[in-house]
Amino acid sequence: MKPEVDIYDTTLRDGSQGEGINFSVADKLRIAEKLDAFGIQYIEGGWPGSNPKDMEFFQQVKRRKFRNAKVAAFSMTRRKGIAVEKDELMRQLLEAETPVITIVGKTWLLHVTEVLRATPDENLAMIADTIKFFKDHRKIVFYDAEHSFDGYKDEPEYALATWQAAEKAGADGIVLCDTNGGCVPDDIARITSLAKSKLSARIGIHTHNDIGLGVANAIAAVNVGATQVQGTINGYGERTGNCNLTSVIPTLALKLKKTCVPKASLSKLQELSHFVDEIANFKPDPRQPWVGVTAFAHKGGMHAHAVERLARSYEHINPELVGNSRRVLVSDMSGRSNVLAKAKELGFKLTPDTPELRPILARIKELESQGFEFEAAEASLALLIQKQLEHRELPFTVEGYHVSMRGNGMSSVCEATVKASVKNEFSHTVAEGDGPVNALDGALRQALSKFFPKLLKLRLTDYKVRIIDGAVGTAAKTRVLITTSNGKREWGTVGVSENIITASLQALADSMEYALMTK
Ligand SMILES: [Zn+2]
Repeated sequence: MKPEVDIYDTTLRDGSQGEGINFSVADKLRIAEKLDAFGIQYIEGGWPGSNPKDMEFFQQVKRRKFRNAKVAAFSMTRRKGIAVEKDELMRQLLEAETPVITIVGKTWLLHVTEVLRATPDENLAMIADTIKFFKDHRKIVFYDAEHSFDGYKDEPEYALATWQAAEKAGADGIVLCDTNGGCVPDDIARITSLAKSKLSARIGIHTHNDIGLGVANAIAAVNVGATQVQGTINGYGERTGNCNLTSVIPTLALKLKKTCVPKASLSKLQELSHFVDEIANFKPDPRQPWVGVTAFAHKGGMHAHAVERLARSYEHINPELVGNSRRVLVSDMSGRSNVLAKAKELGFKLTPDTPELRPILARIKELESQGFEFEAAEASLALLIQKQLEHRELPFTVEGYHVSMRGNGMSSVCEATVKASVKNEFSHTVAEGDGPVNALDGALRQALSKFFPKLLKLRLTDYKVRIIDGAVGTAAKTRVLITTSNGKREWGTVGVSENIITASLQALADSMEYALMTK
């Protein structure tokens, strides 16, 4: 069924402009797959001309099959004074081989004359030529009209002329952008409805959160007929960020009653939000609307049943609708529905009546209190569940390891030895690496490859370290999150210890054990 409002995610492009965000190619692939599984319609992967990393993402992503999402490549209009087919940027966009191309162009006459230093007509030609070029290549083309609202307020006729140029050239959607993020919902609604009355192409909305109204502005546009919302998970983006999709999606679905993502996805919203935070190496914001851990936390203090009854009357929705939970009763069953949903997704047959559910939840809680996070470490979670369900023996044991490092000021090399065993048979290997984890990974993999040759195909594609504040009187702990790839898919595993090497080894061992568990 076609949704009433399409969600266009730009976490990987506009979102990655946010301070402190630096996604690797592996990160981008994992986020893209997660967004697709969630049911997002469009994923803007990056700007192929802007950096080699984005190009590599497009090379890799085209080999993946997405169920829901179409991938978009982003760029500006052709440069001035050059034919569109001669423009290097346009060629790079085609090389990305995405079904969707999103082109940003100038709406505001001030920017045309002062920033672009082009004539008003040249700008219109740049918009039209570029869109037509990609329509001729049978792409879905969205036109991001930069500074739509500020431009319209300043020179309404010219702004409209730019949108009409895009429409006439065949754009599949005209996306009005509040690029500076300073507009209020009234302005957004007035100008969007005017655009709607003058254009027949679908209208999209792209807002920024500079005055805290990114989400409100997107909703204002939808209310007057916009049918595509662009934004980022958790509102990542330059300055104060973009329109936050983790707020827009539930607002559209639960408050405006408009279809946007598959119904079943909504209860995975908190998981999606935390997953992306983990990949970005951010601590999830507890006060994030809808998905933050305090979003439905109530001050307790009354008898448990009364609190539960009352809490509901103080909530705008049932928190489970977005995968969140009420935090007034700290019962050992809270978070149960999340774990059941996750187990199902990982392929386990777990129901509320499964006797192992209680020990699984207890184990997760225990590990979380030690600093583990499983949102981006689904492979570690799968192993944990499997261990409780099947009680089977570990496929291998790490009997011992040693890591050392030598340096001479100019360069350094690490060496690791690992002793592993499988059913009383031992393997003892040594490997060198650029760093301790790299060396450890090499040694462990070699030790185990004697028993399990398929492990040689694995690659460590990403490695993240986070220091977790220790409670008073205890040392700070290190959480290591690693991403492993077998060339077809990636998975995440986690380790926590006061020692970074120990934490890394846990995550590495989990990643190999997971590879052995799956086909
Ligand atoms: Zn933007």
